[in-house]
Amino acid sequence: MPERPTRIAIIGAGPAGTATATLLARRGASVVILDDGKRPDLVVGESLIPLMVAAFRELGIEDEVKKFGTHKPGVTFTIDDDTEFMLSFQSVEGILPTYSYNVPRKDFDQLLLDTALNAGALMVRAQVRLEGPYPQGAEVRLGRETLDSIPGWDGAEPDLLIDASGRRRLTARLLQLKAATGPRTDVAHFAHYADCALPEPAGQVIISRLRHGWSWRIPLSGGRLSIGVVMNKDAAKTFGSTPEAQLEGVIDSEPRLHAAAARRRRVTPVATYANYQLISARASGPGWAAAGDAFGFVDPMLSPGLCMALESARMLAASIPAQGGLDAAAPARLRRYGRWFARSLRHWQDLVDYFYDGRIFSIYTAGREMSARRPGRPAEIIEGHISKNLAGMASGAYTSRAYSRWLVSVLALYAQRQKDPAAYVIR
Ligand SMILES: Cc1cc2nc3c(=O)[nH]c(=O)nc-3n(C[C@H](O)[C@H](O)[C@H](O)COP(=O)(O)OP(=O)(O)OC[C@H]3O[C@@H](n4cnc5c(N)ncnc54)[C@H](O)[C@@H]3O)c2cc1C
Repeated sequence: MPERPTRIAIIGAGPAGTATATLLARRGASVVILDDGKRPDLVVGESLIPLMVAAFRELGIEDEVKKFGTHKPGVTFTIDDDTEFMLSFQSVEGILPTYSYNVPRKDFDQLLLDTALNAGALMVRAQVRLEGPYPQGAEVRLGRETLDSIPGWDGAEPDLLIDASGRRRLTARLLQLKAATGPRTDVAHFAHYADCALPEPAGQVIISRLRHGWSWRIPLSGGRLSIGVVMNKDAAKTFGSTPEAQLEGVIDSEPRLHAAAARRRRVTPVATYANYQLISARASGPGWAAAGDAFGFVDPMLSPGLCMALESARMLAASIPAQGGLDAAAPARLRRYGRWFARSLRHWQDLVDYFYDGRIFSIYTAGREMSARRPGRPAEIIEGHISKNLAGMASGAYTSRAYSRWLVSVLALYAQRQKDPAAYVIR
């Protein structure tokens, strides 16, 4: 007798949910995605890192991403009038693809959903309400009405419920799991604009340090520019009481932003996000596991969000048998997955901290000055090695690599004696 397909119910048709669905459905599991269809047209998360290109190739979707995506060669950080730090993905040659993409989320999310449906996953429109906690068996369960709406399951319970509900964190909230919150209390506003000066080289993302907080400029297809500002909530209020007033006020008051967007025309509403730094105490329990933001999110700086959504999908799917339901070793594999996820987010947080507290820019300026004092081949080799490790970390391949993490910590200790990081802090 062939084994029956493992039944997987996934809450949320965001990237974490649909990528997990694709990987499991391709291996023959019976996968259903439950989504409430309440996704707004404008969703944050448009700047991607090179590790995601490797994931697109694995999913077989890079050609499709290319159709609506903008080729992204790297990121430029502008710190002040004298300090500009250009991170080129060319530095990760031999480790990862040397580019990534900027994408409008609506097209990107639809592509991932279509890929899951083509792989055999089913989609059910449902506003899921979880029940539990239960002391025995599955810790959380789908309501009877939701179970009955799943075609072909005859009302049976899933072998595993995957919470990919994003920042709504359905399981964590129901189980009242403790969450570690990050150090920042920022609010982020963003919108798409036309008639702006576009970054050079084409597709480059620009991150600028502002008097308060920082901004992103992400070039998208059709000549659109996504402009976002991230700042302390109290500082934001000094620009007005509405998200529109705050976003437009910051753009007008910051010379670098204003120069790029003096004749801007806003073509979308303004979207706002707050309280997003949150990591749950656990990523799985009896009968459930979480993927993507439903487990945790670090910070928009360096754009790790969608990468972790897809990486968590890959790691989670690899922990689940596609046939015969969950085996006896599955809970231990899911706990290992949770430890990997928490550790990866911690490493991203460490890297992000280097940018907020200015240490990365003190490494950069101290390095530049040293190369200028002693030009020549040895300096070029050292600079190339440092760039490769830094770009490798920011691209997702080396973020958790012990040597790269050690190298950056040593460089930071050396650099802070030459250039005080306090001069580059992002408030
Ligand atoms: C300010 C800011 C800027 C960011 N910028 C970037 C960036 O440039 N690059 C990047 O990679 N990442 C970025 N991110 C992070 C990125 O947006 C997220 O990490 C990513 O969207 C997470 O995907 P996900 O699939 O986990 O969740 P989501 O994309 O949020 O998907 C969750 C899905 O679950 C559904 N759902 C929720 N509750 C229910 C329910 N009860 N029933 C049914 N369905 C439900 C929702 O409707 C939604 O479709 C940014 C985040 C912030 C806050």
